[in-house]
Amino acid sequence: MKVWDVVIVGAGPAGSTAASVTARAGLSVLLIDKARFPRDKPCAGGVSVKSLHEIGLTPPREVIQREITGLILGGPGGGSSGGHSGFLIRHPAGERIAVTVRRREFDAFLVDLATAEGACFRDGVEVSGLEERDDSVSLRLATCGCPGYSRPDYFRPGHSQPVHSQEEGITARFVIGADGAMGRTAALSGLRRRWRRFELGLGIFVEVAPGEASPEAFQLYCLPGIPCSFGWVFPYRDSVNVGLGASALFSDRVIGTFHSFFGHVKTLWHLGEPAGSPTCYILPAGGFARRIATKRVLLAGDAAGLVDPFSGEGIYSAVVSGRMAGEVVAGALRGDLAPGQASREYQRACHARLTRQFRLAMIMSLMSGYKSATGFRLVQHDPGITENLVRLMKEGDHVYRRLLWWHLQCLPVGLLRVAGINRQGTRK
Ligand SMILES: Cc1cc2nc3c(=O)[nH]c(=O)nc-3n(C[C@H](O)[C@H](O)[C@H](O)COP(=O)(O)OP(=O)(O)OC[C@H]3O[C@@H](n4cnc5c(N)ncnc54)[C@H](O)[C@@H]3O)c2cc1C
Repeated sequence: MKVWDVVIVGAGPAGSTAASVTARAGLSVLLIDKARFPRDKPCAGGVSVKSLHEIGLTPPREVIQREITGLILGGPGGGSSGGHSGFLIRHPAGERIAVTVRRREFDAFLVDLATAEGACFRDGVEVSGLEERDDSVSLRLATCGCPGYSRPDYFRPGHSQPVHSQEEGITARFVIGADGAMGRTAALSGLRRRWRRFELGLGIFVEVAPGEASPEAFQLYCLPGIPCSFGWVFPYRDSVNVGLGASALFSDRVIGTFHSFFGHVKTLWHLGEPAGSPTCYILPAGGFARRIATKRVLLAGDAAGLVDPFSGEGIYSAVVSGRMAGEVVAGALRGDLAPGQASREYQRACHARLTRQFRLAMIMSLMSGYKSATGFRLVQHDPGITENLVRLMKEGDHVYRRLLWWHLQCLPVGLLRVAGINRQGTRK
């Protein structure tokens, strides 16, 4: 029976990147996905410039929905123009800071890159069993007519069972589990049984006609109803994606807050009516200590819980962790690293490049000035803060350390200025 060098479970950005890297290194690579491709993935489709740099090339024009060259920040009240709570800050970045994509097209493009490097791709196939031995991993695969992302049970990965028609066994020397937040590899390998509620975020969105919304800016809004949450309006070619991200701890407030936020931006930009009900999906917050690798099974992307807890950006860390997982597996199979060492090296690299950053991102999220009225005034009167938000989309490593340091230095002066402005406003 053929023994694959590496089997990669899940063909999202993490899995496809790992497949490209390992195939390019000359390994025999099988990339599988339970969904039939092309498939949708609940996402706002914002891909930062730093993610494009990690991928190493810009997707073709037909995959890109919009080039993003600016930011619009909306204050508490969703940016409505009435009363003291209505603020909007426009920040033209003067260069491309991100693109928007539809995940159906973007993920298929990444799979094409992996197969062009020599990876074999099988869709409509799910991992249903996994047994790790000292020198290999046995996997049970099942062909499935899988519904993809509908109706997940948020806290029990792998709960929505597809109907399996055929089963087969395969063997690999390494497995990379890149099967997303609801994947099964984490549980099957014993790395994680279930998410804890505080580790998860919820994203909810609709797509509507764009009205007068800016076609080249990301819009981000403070949402006073839920701590550490934000709303977004991301432009596509013929529509906008309007959504909200919040901690799953506040799941009871998410739907109500989303509807009032949508009402605000709909009025503000004359957006269209949604065709259906909003889509809601989970995203795991990065920054928590987690074991993400055994000797021969490595988790990457959402499966490893690697999403930026401040911005909700997960594509960047999926690509980064997918690449690092691929590199250590290639190193181990070349004989540069013993398997146990490879797993330790991978966890160390993820910690250094991602988890450590996410801890600082969590602090930023908690103190995030622009999500409260006073904080928002701070942003209004200090363009440096908006510039720093733009830098988050352009720069990868160590950006949060610099941002936090910068904020701590500027905060006292900024607060004094805002206090002065508030007092003047009261005297008038
Ligand atoms: C509402 C919402 C909006 C978001 N917006 C953004 C954004 O604008 N920008 C951004 O950077 N991030 C965003 N994210 C986060 C981003 O979508 C994820 O972080 C990213 O998709 C993670 O990529 P991944 O490759 O790890 O997993 P995924 O993209 O989830 O891919 C996992 C793949 O594994 C497959 N799979 C699952 N289980 C199995 C199995 N048992 N066997 C085989 N295959 C399996 C799935 O079919 C899927 O194709 C958003 C998330 C949500 C929920």
